[in-house]
Amino acid sequence: MSIPYNKITAVIELANIVHNYHVLQAASGAILPVIKADAYGHGLSQVAQALSAEGADTFAVGTVEEAVALRASGHARRVIALLGPVEDHEYAALWNAGVVAFFHSFDQLDRLDAFQKDRDEVLPIALKFDTGMRRLGFTLADVPAVAAKLKAMKNVRLEYVSSHLATADEPGALAYVREQGEEFAAIRRELLAHGLPHKANIANSAAILGHPDLHLDNQRAGIALYGASPFYGTSREELGRDLKPAMSVKTKILSVHPLKAGQTISYGCTFKAGQDMQVAIVAAGYADAYSRGLSGKAQMCLKGRRVPVLGRVCMQMCAVDVTGMDGVRPGDEIWLLGGEGEGRITPEDLAGWWGTITYEVFCLLGLNKREYV
Ligand SMILES: *Cc1c(COP(=O)(O)O)cnc(C)c1O
Repeated sequence: MSIPYNKITAVIELANIVHNYHVLQAASGAILPVIKADAYGHGLSQVAQALSAEGADTFAVGTVEEAVALRASGHARRVIALLGPVEDHEYAALWNAGVVAFFHSFDQLDRLDAFQKDRDEVLPIALKFDTGMRRLGFTLADVPAVAAKLKAMKNVRLEYVSSHLATADEPGALAYVREQGEEFAAIRRELLAHGLPHKANIANSAAILGHPDLHLDNQRAGIALYGASPFYGTSREELGRDLKPAMSVKTKILSVHPLKAGQTISYGCTFKAGQDMQVAIVAAGYADAYSRGLSGKAQMCLKGRRVPVLGRVCMQMCAVDVTGMDGVRPGDEIWLLGGEGEGRITPEDLAGWWGTITYEVFCLLGLNKREYV
């Protein structure tokens, strides 16, 4: 999906995603790339293709629909749908498109049972267990009933068992990570005791880089694949030093003109020039997923230099301060994310001004049209 009719381009360097994949593989063995939400805005089929070429054999998307879309793009490797089936057509699609879905509730297993009766191929599935996130998942106490249900379904086979960590990126919350790991180990022992062998994964990016004791059969890598460190700004920041961001976002300058001392700019007149200035009007606004929350806070990168956003971000425009810069003209490129040299905007910079995390920056700016280099 992309936002039509604007001047913004998200430039994706697939080689950096490949680089990050190898960094994570070296740290933890088998990597299961998480490419949900259009690969965090980097492009579902493009990222799947680039990492398939590197030998990745199993990928995780969000909805079953996203898995079906990936299949339709020609993807031949194993696909896991983390959110699991929600509507009836998604259950049928598991067999038809060859999708391994996460199952997290008895309601889902009952519906699966109704579907599997009419099939003659065995469907591999994944079970999601809750060990502390408290969103979705079976618990340790559910194992006997889950095992009984699975054994009664002749066309279903347990393939993966997973759980998700709530605090793996927080150096101060190691105890909670350990508790989740122990709970997961207990669940796995109980499954084996009920005759359900399986492959297991619990590690996300933060656990791949920072919790080697939680490396299991494979690890689910998301944000670090796209080059942002889950430990940025913490005492464990060094763990992400080898990652390279893969997304840069550029747009065009629409106008360059003076702003005289005492004049204000944009809605609400929130910025007033204290001296004579030169401003550039930039074709980026909140309709392009460049948040209004960045008003008066963010910077952009123009010709290798940092330029601050002045006043309010509008729907399709905003203003930056280019005072003292020669040769800035309408039609010039300016970077909302990335850019050249010292003035480069990192995903963490932008997330900081935005009051969010790099995940959201990528997902939102990745809604713009993309170009692959
Ligand atoms: C998104 C997601 C991941 C990836 O997490 P990162 O922090 O981006 O590495 C892993 N597992 C599940 C279940 C997820 O939903």
